[in-house]
Amino acid sequence: MTLPGSPHIAYRGDELFIEDCRLSDLARRFGTPLYVYSRASMLAALAAYQRALVGRDHLVCYAMKANSSLAVIQTFAHAGCGFDIVSGGELERVLAAGVPASKIVFSGVGKTRAEMHRALDVGVLCFNVESEAELGVLSQVAAGSGNTARVSLRINPDVDPGTHPYISTGLKGNKFGIAHEQALACYLQAAALPGLEVIGIDCHIGSQITDTGPYLDALDRLLDLVESIEARGITVHHLDLGGGLGITYTDETPPSAEVLVRSLLERIDARGHGHRKIMFEPGRSLVGNAGVLVSEVLYVKPGEQKNFCIVDAAMNDLMRPAMYQAWMGIVACRLRDGPEAVYDVVGPICESGDWLGRDRTLAVQAGDFVAVLSAGAYSMTMASNYNTRGRAAELMVSGDQAWLIRDREQVSELFRGEHLLPASVL
Ligand SMILES: *Cc1c(COP(=O)(O)O)cnc(C)c1O
Repeated sequence: MTLPGSPHIAYRGDELFIEDCRLSDLARRFGTPLYVYSRASMLAALAAYQRALVGRDHLVCYAMKANSSLAVIQTFAHAGCGFDIVSGGELERVLAAGVPASKIVFSGVGKTRAEMHRALDVGVLCFNVESEAELGVLSQVAAGSGNTARVSLRINPDVDPGTHPYISTGLKGNKFGIAHEQALACYLQAAALPGLEVIGIDCHIGSQITDTGPYLDALDRLLDLVESIEARGITVHHLDLGGGLGITYTDETPPSAEVLVRSLLERIDARGHGHRKIMFEPGRSLVGNAGVLVSEVLYVKPGEQKNFCIVDAAMNDLMRPAMYQAWMGIVACRLRDGPEAVYDVVGPICESGDWLGRDRTLAVQAGDFVAVLSAGAYSMTMASNYNTRGRAAELMVSGDQAWLIRDREQVSELFRGEHLLPASVL
């Protein structure tokens, strides 16, 4: 039986497998809640971008905020990937995974001076600058330390990606990027400021985008700008078209990465920009469908209006349903003959918003394992310790082997670094 998302997660008979590992075996061996990722699925997703870019100067930079576990970074780095980071913490993480700074682009609207210093010291490939004010500060920091910051300006092309308001980032009302009307003036300023070297232009219009249209619109705006910037004598070496490609959670039908990239390249070539280096910053589309969150059914609670299936994973482990009303597939790790019922699948946290799925038809009993599908992106990275719950363990599967890539967080770690008041103040 096939499921939406990755071909690497499928039933064989009654049992749900990830690659050649039975998920209920992994759950018994490593405990729950448990994130499990397919390495083959991640590599296949990256290869789809790379195939379309073969033969051109390019760099795919994985937006690591989608899933920043060291072993995930290592997997992509080994396959030739670069990285898009949005904080000093992510910079240290990606360096700790062994990635050279020359493959790192630094995005984000609120970079601090300290973060700029560190990124300049290690020599990141490019700063994606999001405002005129940031340009000024970066120039000061770079010139003041005798460094040169390579920069690209993130343009807000004002196109509607047709996605959830929290994850659309390229509209006028968003906090992201430089309005395209102001872009030329900003480029002239960047070229004149000390300590800066203009190397590119970028945009990122949103997330979970399922159409090619908004990308083409944004690309056209960017190319218009590149033409006017170069007419003023500033060379734009690379075009970075951001991330945002959607995945299938239920019945979405986004273009494949290969189809999307090919249609963008076709437009780039048709407009005479084919000589430029091309960059992308995919996050979700590289990891989303590669992961599941496995959880044990604690209680089945029939109700007058609703039946509840109470599981040991909660909103602290997986925020997407509570935060974006996101629909994520939930299936049994082992199919039973019945009886089926319609459940709200909820966690143990003391909030009514703590649900993973509503009105789901399942045949489950206490002690069974369920898997939340397409949980490889914006899942573990958004986990918190709310209700003093340790974060889940993570596994990477390859074929019939599974590696523990993150230990389950222990309760004692949760209040390490906290201090009681001295007795004298009580
Ligand atoms: C989050 C982010 C991405 C990745 O977005 P996805 O929707 O996960 O592909 C790319 N670029 C920037 C600047 C981002 O902030």
